[in-house]
Amino acid sequence: MSHGHRQLTENDPTFTSKKRSTTEIIRRVSVYLWPYKWLAMATIGCAVLSLLCAFAFPRLTQIIIDDVIGGGQTDKLTPVILLLLGAFFLRDFFNSVRIQVNNHFEQNVVYDMRRDVYGRLQRLPVSYYDKRASGDLMTRVIEDVNAVERLLIDGTEQGTVAIVSIFGVLAILFATNPLLAGIAMIPIPLLAIGAMCYTLTAHSRYRKQRQASSAMNSLLMDNLQGVREIKAFGRERHEDDRFTDRAEAMRQGTLTIMRAWAFYNPAMSFITASGTGLVLWIGGNQVMNTAMSVGELVAFLFYLALFYEPIGKLHGLNQMLQAARAGGERVFDILDATEERKDAKSSQPLPEPVRGEVEFREIHFEYTEDKPALHDISLIAKPGQMTALVGPTGAGKSTLVNLLPAFYEATGGAITIDGQDIDSTSLESLRKNISVVNQEPFLFNGTIGENIAYGNLNADDEKIAEAAQAANCFDFISELTEGFGTRVGERGVRLSVGEKQRISIARALLKASPILILDEATASVDTATERLIQQALERLMVGRTTFVIAHRLSTIRKADQILVLKDGRITERGTHDELVGQQGLYARLARIQNTTFIEESFEKLEPST
Ligand code: ADP
Repeated sequence: MSHGHRQLTENDPTFTSKKRSTTEIIRRVSVYLWPYKWLAMATIGCAVLSLLCAFAFPRLTQIIIDDVIGGGQTDKLTPVILLLLGAFFLRDFFNSVRIQVNNHFEQNVVYDMRRDVYGRLQRLPVSYYDKRASGDLMTRVIEDVNAVERLLIDGTEQGTVAIVSIFGVLAILFATNPLLAGIAMIPIPLLAIGAMCYTLTAHSRYRKQRQASSAMNSLLMDNLQGVREIKAFGRERHEDDRFTDRAEAMRQGTLTIMRAWAFYNPAMSFITASGTGLVLWIGGNQVMNTAMSVGELVAFLFYLALFYEPIGKLHGLNQMLQAARAGGERVFDILDATEERKDAKSSQPLPEPVRGEVEFREIHFEYTEDKPALHDISLIAKPGQMTALVGPTGAGKSTLVNLLPAFYEATGGAITIDGQDIDSTSLESLRKNISVVNQEPFLFNGTIGENIAYGNLNADDEKIAEAAQAANCFDFISELTEGFGTRVGERGVRLSVGEKQRISIARALLKASPILILDEATASVDTATERLIQQALERLMVGRTTFVIAHRLSTIRKADQILVLKDGRITERGTHDELVGQQGLYARLARIQNTTFIEESFEKLEPST
């Protein structure tokens, strides 16, 4: 195990959540409970009925001891036993109903909550995901929602049973023997102090453990996705160490909770047991002084057990409450995160048919304050035109195209499509009209056919095949044993970058949007494949306003306008021929022979600029 690595700290921004009070968590959770209030009432009703049946046992025992055994009324024995059996039967019957009703109640609540969390996750802006690990978010949706669930399953049951039995039994105890009842209360202040100490310190323990769990899951997720890199770089030992550290933090976090519990729970149990001892001591004396019958003392002790037991459960409840609070904080963090855009009532769809004229007017953008990634970007792309963006890495090309579908929102200036400001356009309409083809496209777990149909869920097999034809991927798909039914993504066959690109081109073709954003693949493919991809792209670009982050000189030459970006500014613009005539950066680039990728040229040029 290594110790040199950064350990998980309370302040690791990735895994922390806003601190919230228990009352806030309870208030927020109760919003989810409200629709199922009748199920909750039924649960409580069954718990109370079951409890009342349990109350019969001590009283009936008292009758057997005092009247049957002590008083010799043998004829009473059979009816009392039958009564007792009846009471036990009803107790367990109501319990069975309660468990079933409660399960429905709690599963409904958790279902609603999970869907809300997932729904919110989908509406969060891309920038939210820039700062989070997916493993952390998964932990929140799965494990933390469960922590809240546990409170609902066991919490509502134990809580109501405890409160009802504490007050019910308290009344019986005082009615039976006030002196003994008073003595039985002696441990209560100690229990209250213990519970308070535990509660006040428990929260930070649970927070740490939840964070540790998130950190471990995040690393796991990362490593499962990067398994090839880990092997290629021979970093198994290194990753082992990192995982060990996180697993260790998880172990420590859980052990800290258990250590506190291992002390707290038995200590509380001993305090209540001392109460029973005291009652037996004083009660025994009372029986010897004939102030009380044996049966009464036995009944009293049984009732006392019914009193102390729920108090013991209150500790458990406390433990659950603390876990739910830590989990709830993390769940409500997601639910409270700002959605990507409040589609105001004023936001409108783009007027149909969308021609696809795009204008950037003095656009300014910064990811972090005072560190602008784009300055003063103005451009006009006429419908059907192709705009090539070139420039060294980090110049802001991806940032520029990400503003168009509002993945990020510009900090200054305006972007219009067909003259309508995208700020006042509904996101649904905006994104429906823009297709994106990425460098290394993402394919979902599913078949090739399903992945292509992602572009248009209503497309039939014929349309899918047509798109595949046009994207030059029909032939290789047909050669696969299962054709369009072949599974791809994480659980399926591995496709080459060139193949994935063509599938994603087919997907974009099906979407048939007037605007296209294209990030050319930088990976070298053989010339035959390259020609297939180029052909597919040309078919895709026909009639669409295209922004291409261009890496190949061959693509750029065909562009209607070329924008050269450097440090977030447009430094040169024009067609290939115009720019060559200008004797600027682009002209020098174009003069470098034997390069396929524009970046290589930039690197060669960089020292002299
Ligand atoms: P290019 O696509 O030309 O390589 P980018 O648009 O990716 O350049 O990046 C432009 C600048 O913005 C770079 O300095 C980069 O580090 C920064 N940047 C890119 N994405 C983010 C992000 N999600 N958060 C913060 N900074 C970013």
